[in-house]
Formats: sequence, structure tokens, C-alpha cells
Amino acid sequence: MTSELRDLYHEVILEHSKKPRNFRVLEQANRVAEGFNPLCGDRLTLYLNLEGERIQDIGFQGSGCAIFKSSASLMTEAVKGKSHAEAQALFEAVHKMLACDPHQFSNVAGLGKLAAFSGVSEFPVRVKCATLAWHTLRAGLRSAKEMVSTE
Ligand code: ZN
Repeated sequence: MTSELRDLYHEVILEHSKKPRNFRVLEQANRVAEGFNPLCGDRLTLYLNLEGERIQDIGFQGSGCAIFKSSASLMTEAVKGKSHAEAQALFEAVHKMLACDPHQFSNVAGLGKLAAFSGVSEFPVRVKCATLAWHTLRAGLRSAKEMVSTE
């Protein structure tokens, strides 16, 4: 990773942690899922408005570290309007990116801004901060009410 790219990724994470997108309660949510990362203290409530196979709208509330907040923000941006299958494919791509040695992994094509988290894989403790929102999303898509913990 070049230092320019590293700076750019850092910018994206910082910006989203300061001004998270879709940071709101969805009054018309038909799915709610909770997530908690005891290792860092990150927690969120994720609201989904599903229409058939599509994520019509999404919002979240919660508190935690910058990595968690920006990841949740970028996740909601990435999956809004997507189908279950598309969201699942993104989840898998993000998971793969975070589980990989950053020096080996370069296939961030199609991930867009989510690639900003590729450097997080160097810090295993932080990986849970970056994946919490995604695990919570998966739980929300799976069932009406579920509590997720990264432990
Ligand atoms: Zn965290």
C-alpha cells in the first residue's frame, strides 16, 4: 500500500466516524438487530426496512471507536437499496479483506470506499470493530430480532 493510499483511507475513516451516514432511528423499520463488541465496547442498534429481498432503508444508532463508527456508516451506505444476495456478497468480500495479510491482499476491486478498511487487518483487535456492523446486518437479515456479540 502506498502512503498516499494509506492517507486517503485514513481520511475516509476519519470523515465517516465524525459524520456517520444513516445515523438515525428508522421509524418504519421492520427488522431491528443489536450488536456488541465487548473487546472494545462498541455497540449498535441496526434498523432495517426490508421490502421483499431488498434493503429499502437502513439506519443505525450506537457508540464506540472511530473504526466501528465509520465501518457502520460505510456499511449502511454500501448496502442501501441492495438485495440480500448483494449485501451478503459484500459482507463476504469485506470479511475476506479483513482476514487477509494486507501485504498479500490487493483485490479490493468492487469494494469502493470499503477498501479503506484493508489496513485494519494488520490490527486483529480492530478487525472486530470493523466487522461488528456487518455481523449485525447479517443477523438482521436472517431473523426479526437478534442480539449479536463478536465473542
Ligand atoms: Zn472498536
